[in-house]
Amino acid sequence: MPRILAILALFAAMLGATVTTQVVTATKAHADGCYTWNRPLSQGTSGEDVRQLQIRVAGYPGYGGHIATDGVFGPATKAAVARFQTAYGLTSDGIAGAATFTKLYALQDDDCTPIHFTYAELDDGCGGSGYDGGPLSEAATKANALQTMWQLEALRHALGDKALTLSSGFRSIPCNRQVGGASNSEHLYGRSADVIGVHSFCTIVKQARYHGFGGILGPGYPGHNDHAHIDIRSSNFWSAPSCGI
Ligand code: ZN
Repeated sequence: MPRILAILALFAAMLGATVTTQVVTATKAHADGCYTWNRPLSQGTSGEDVRQLQIRVAGYPGYGGHIATDGVFGPATKAAVARFQTAYGLTSDGIAGAATFTKLYALQDDDCTPIHFTYAELDDGCGGSGYDGGPLSEAATKANALQTMWQLEALRHALGDKALTLSSGFRSIPCNRQVGGASNSEHLYGRSADVIGVHSFCTIVKQARYHGFGGILGPGYPGHNDHAHIDIRSSNFWSAPSCGI
């Protein structure tokens, strides 16, 4: 019971009144503007609701790991849910129930992006806007961007909830060419973010290793002394020699 309710209950008890806390604990009935889960999810379950959960805990695979967003709740998803719960002070049992969903609802906007990141922010666009013009469909690119943002949210939280400012994100093919990006750049697929901001680049790239980022490039890697590049490719390619990576 939240402290305020405990205090209210105490007052009510002193007055001889009957106390009910049903209104605030009825998380099952919660409807969220983005997505609403309708059952607890634990290892062995599968479906779209599991996949939606996996996207949101993709930033919690443990060091060097990656969460498959395949809709199948296996041991890796369980461990990721448990790490997410620990990160937010919840009971860490690896089962997504009311408390976990309530935290996820609090962390997401109505367009399903995490509260501290937006599609617009992750769209570099070279002055344009939107997620078209890459090798993938706009929908597939945006889906990648969404997962990238959830992993960024995990990274941001782990670094003390201070701002992570992005200097680049999705790039269309012409945009990538314009900025001199690699022809196979992860930026083309909506999977990348270039991070600047209050933390040192080394702090960012070191911590990123714990949040499912397969691509990590930072100080000492050619062209990466002024930002931390991170992307959600599923094999690890890390290089930031000045940071000891
Ligand atoms: Zn980059």
